[in-house]
Amino acid sequence: MDVHVVRHPLVEDMLASLRDRRTPCDVFRQLAHRVSLLLVAEATRDLSLAETTIGTPLEPTMVRRLAARVVAVPVLRAGLGMLDALLELVPQAQVGYFGLERDELTAVARRYYGKVPKDLGTASVFLLDPMLATGGSAAMAIEGLAELGARRVRLLSIVAAPEGLAVYTAAIDRELNARKFILPGLGDFGDRLFGT
Ligand code: URA
Repeated sequence: MDVHVVRHPLVEDMLASLRDRRTPCDVFRQLAHRVSLLLVAEATRDLSLAETTIGTPLEPTMVRRLAARVVAVPVLRAGLGMLDALLELVPQAQVGYFGLERDELTAVARRYYGKVPKDLGTASVFLLDPMLATGGSAAMAIEGLAELGARRVRLLSIVAAPEGLAVYTAAIDRELNARKFILPGLGDFGDRLFGT
């Protein structure tokens, strides 16, 4: 599996603020959006294009437009913090949702909700899950998408632990703690995103 760590000074700087426990919820949300824009730009680099002809004000010219069908699947609820970035860059994307929650004690994931567009096999699917810790919930989501016919799935995460890889991420952090949180990490992404 390919791992793409998006190395960019702007990403580093945004990560620094995301990690900082003094960063308030509204700024955290804005930074999650901005860093996701850069991840999406990187992860969509090889989407297919199709040639077509348009008229400029002066003459006809050949242009290339996005030909790929894109489906975004945020993992509830933290993945919602990355969805607007994908839709900003790919407004025609369809959206599905997976609701996964980790048992606080065992860190084992459970799917409590799933709704995705039809014909996933013809789409490039972007799974949005900002914190890749054990990889358990990501693996469950990818398996779920594969069962529904998806053949091209890319996982976008903001911080990954080495224990669970195969992603476009802004950082691979040191390790997981006993509660399977990423260290140094960002904390509970959903709590910080939604101010809970
Ligand atoms: N989910 C989070 O929100 N944070 C972690 O560190 C791991 C999983």
